[in-house]
Amino acid sequence: MPITDPLHALAGTTGIGSGQSEKTALAQRVIILLDRLGRLTRELQFANGLNPAQWEALRFIAQANKYSRSPTALADYLGATKGTVSQTLIALESKGLITRCKKTEDRRQVDLCLTEAGQTMLAKDPMQTLEQATLEIADELGIQMVKGLTRLLHDLQSRNQINEFGVCQDCSLFCVNTQSVTDLTGGTCGNTGEAVDTAEKTKICINYKTTN
Ligand code: SF4
Repeated sequence: MPITDPLHALAGTTGIGSGQSEKTALAQRVIILLDRLGRLTRELQFANGLNPAQWEALRFIAQANKYSRSPTALADYLGATKGTVSQTLIALESKGLITRCKKTEDRRQVDLCLTEAGQTMLAKDPMQTLEQATLEIADELGIQMVKGLTRLLHDLQSRNQINEFGVCQDCSLFCVNTQSVTDLTGGTCGNTGEAVDTAEKTKICINYKTTN
């Protein structure tokens, strides 16, 4: 594998360089599988008149918290340029799937929202095929897959200095409302000092900080 191949960075996270040929072979198999899955899921997302970037944007807007429903956060999340994201948002707006509203607390900021048609479209998300396939192996492999893929993702994000994104309940800045760590009904954001209710707590945040 040439050193200039961007997937070389992924191999580095899975054991290449350790001098152990079995680890190296395993790392390369993981890379091939991830790459093929990525290509397959991308193909799946040319559906219902949308392309993969448009589906990703719809999903992000549905899942993002109030600090993150902006074109800038979306560009950061997708690893795309602001120009590319702008084209995606224009396409979604012209299809009547999203709207841009001014934030009540700061009228200069834009909040991206799904319309009713956007929510209906999201119910037809082609990635449900992958969800169904994953459900079938979840009992056997689900927890290990989540652990392994999460570590890979965090490692690559950290190497490339990319924002992690994540949810309050896993964030090192989240403070639960009571002294009891088992009470996860709501809390406070340690970054803004604002209250986080139960609905916001499970949404994706651009300011997320991982717990090490
Ligand atoms: S606690 Fe963390 S994830 Fe939640 S809003 Fe604050 S910075 Fe974002």
